Amino acid sequence: MDMVEGRCRICGDSTEILRLTEFNLKLCRHCFVRFFERRVRRALEKHAMLGEGDRVALAVSGGKDSTALLFALKRLGVAMDFELRALHFHLNMGEYSDRNLEAVAAQADLAGVPLEVVRIADLGLRVQRVKGWNSCAVCGAIKRSLLNREARRMEATVVATAHTLEDVLLFSFKNLLSRKHYVPQPVLPATGGLARKVKPLVYTPERLNLVYCRLRDLPVFEDKCPEWTPRGHSLKEVFEHMEEVMPSGKLQLLLSFMEAFPGQEEEDDVPRGPCARCGEPTSRELCAICQLADWFSTRPSRPSEHTPSTCGETEIRAFQDAG
Ligand code: AMP
Ligand code: ZN
Repeated sequence: MDMVEGRCRICGDSTEILRLTEFNLKLCRHCFVRFFERRVRRALEKHAMLGEGDRVALAVSGGKDSTALLFALKRLGVAMDFELRALHFHLNMGEYSDRNLEAVAAQADLAGVPLEVVRIADLGLRVQRVKGWNSCAVCGAIKRSLLNREARRMEATVVATAHTLEDVLLFSFKNLLSRKHYVPQPVLPATGGLARKVKPLVYTPERLNLVYCRLRDLPVFEDKCPEWTPRGHSLKEVFEHMEEVMPSGKLQLLLSFMEAFPGQEEEDDVPRGPCARCGEPTSRELCAICQLADWFSTRPSRPSEHTPSTCGETEIRAFQDAG
């Protein structure tokens, strides 16, 4: 985060300022924080993501994106009159997950937001390769299913995730590269027993989330997931290069994608009825959680296998598929 001496475009003060090449702006600390929160608010209002009387379940990983969203939504909830709760999944990856939970609990405490925690071990689940799925795809499927289930238990009217501009752009781009004309939508309406899903950071570059956390001095969980591999993230570099050559290119490209390819659910993934065992909405006979629990119940826990991974991509896809 480079602060330089200059004049803030909003308040006019000559002070330490931050250059936002994405928006051709120079802002002081104070004005940046307000700018960021206003941007999130504009996205919420533009797509009627959430408003008065809503009870929001925000999925928090502890990373910079969901941390920024947690603290921004906490402030916006006062003005916009919605209730905010945080939801964290302890992903049963040993010490990493324990430290992750500790960090998220401290954040929620600091934000003054109630936190719900679900430990996937309690459901007989773990993040591990399954049949043709790599561990990131399994993790994504678990999070997607649990998000729906816990949202209902919490009586949430809306589920929010911290998917960013880069996340949505990458997912759209990969789709288009395989000639699937499908772009994730900022809002997925409630369907088939699933709560409405929103992505308030869809127009926000990741870098700004980090800056917001730094400027507000928010604690961010920065450990890398033990299952993370660079593959699947390499395409992101393409966008970073584009952004260097053309400031604001990422945002413009996403907006163009959205205009050109209005989103559409993939038919197969729309829930058709209740899971035969647990009753959760699913497109199959057994929901993903019950299928995975069956698989793990007959197999011993193994040390994690680092197979070629598409982490990030698959998670988005998983969340998106959930309707
Ligand atoms: P990721 O694919 O890891 O970037 O995560 C996408 C979104 O899922 C994040 O922005 C969070 O909103 C949510 N998320 C990721 N990990 C967790 C977790 N362990 N518990 C709850 N929500 C999560
Ligand atoms: Zn089930």
